[in-house]
Amino acid sequence: MRPKFSVPVSTDKPRRDRGSAARAPAKVMPLPNSRPSRIAVLGAGGFIGSHLVPGLVAALDAQIDAVDLTFDKLAPGLPRVNRIQASLSDPGLLDEITARAEIVFSLTALCNPALYNTRPLEVIDASYTDLVPLVRLCAERRRWLIHLSTCEVYGLFALAASGRPAQRMDEERSALCLGPIHRERWTYAAAKQLLERVIWAYGHHHGLPFTVVRPFNVIGPRMDFIPGVDGEGIPRVLAAFMHALLAGQDLILVDGGRQRRSFLAVDEFVDGLLRIVERPDRCQGQIFNLGNDRNDVSIRTLAGSLLSAFHAQRPAAPLPRMRTQSAAAFYGAGYDDSRVRIPAMTKARSLLGWRPRMALDEMLPPIVADYLERYEARMTGEPRIAVPGSP
Ligand code: UDP
Repeated sequence: MRPKFSVPVSTDKPRRDRGSAARAPAKVMPLPNSRPSRIAVLGAGGFIGSHLVPGLVAALDAQIDAVDLTFDKLAPGLPRVNRIQASLSDPGLLDEITARAEIVFSLTALCNPALYNTRPLEVIDASYTDLVPLVRLCAERRRWLIHLSTCEVYGLFALAASGRPAQRMDEERSALCLGPIHRERWTYAAAKQLLERVIWAYGHHHGLPFTVVRPFNVIGPRMDFIPGVDGEGIPRVLAAFMHALLAGQDLILVDGGRQRRSFLAVDEFVDGLLRIVERPDRCQGQIFNLGNDRNDVSIRTLAGSLLSAFHAQRPAAPLPRMRTQSAAAFYGAGYDDSRVRIPAMTKARSLLGWRPRMALDEMLPPIVADYLERYEARMTGEPRIAVPGSP
């Protein structure tokens, strides 16, 4: 069973004193209209967290409470980072975190479509049940909760509030369109949507300072896992394709790979999050899409681009083929899919001045290099092909 957030262990700071986990005094701190002095990142050891924490360290003077079960992906030796190896359900943990941090980033989830129809109750707990106490504590103590939700809440495709099909998924105007209950794909989206509604209600009726972020297919180095090396099961599409390339296996296009996604570079995503932190007056009480509408491509196109990027770095490696498989055969019963996901960008542009620029073809070479560096030797015992100048 995969852990609720991230993978194995490392600490460069001692664990915090568990004796202090008793209910901490609810000292209400001022809202961070000036620079925050302490920020908590829940899920700091995962893919996004491992990029966000160094970003926060570089941009701010704040102390960072970095919470996760494991920290393998997080760079060692970061200044002002207090690694707290713990689960959100550990008694007293959320109490302790919200007692001292002015801003709480919540990143934890089981974010992987292969789990939505196979481990739906764990998905719902990780995305909803486990986080309701956090929302309550942040409301009680007036901590700014910056919650990472998902573009999955929009569902199958973009719908205007009138029910008519639309081009883009819009924070203010889209209806949220999930499939029937037996399509368990939507457990994640439904749980995430309900938590958004809880956050919204605490925000608008009980004074919670919040910002909800809906990431659209963020990709980058350290994403996900490679089956059989540092995880089991089916990873997200990028890691699934990289696994196939490294193992010399076919790239599987689910239902022909016609479905489309808009890909966003993780560095640009983190830049969007930092802009939120710097603009509490504009961003509290808001929901933001963070995505890149210019990188709307089919999964088949992604596969082709990744093959080319891989070939450029390992020209002598045999190039695998692409093969189509039905979603039912690949993911099992109850799977369903978003056909197309293009974010409306207006709100992030106007309130954050944020406009991502990195094209998919620019993002892929460093991602391929990262996977080669981390996995090639572990999968083959040695670099598969020695290419001068390659990573
Ligand atoms: N997909 C695919 N081959 C794979 C893995 C995924 O064709 O080996 C498809 C999947 O069906 C989905 C898309 O790629 O339509 C994106 O998958 P991802 O895992 O990134 O999750 P999603 O964007 O749906 O949340």
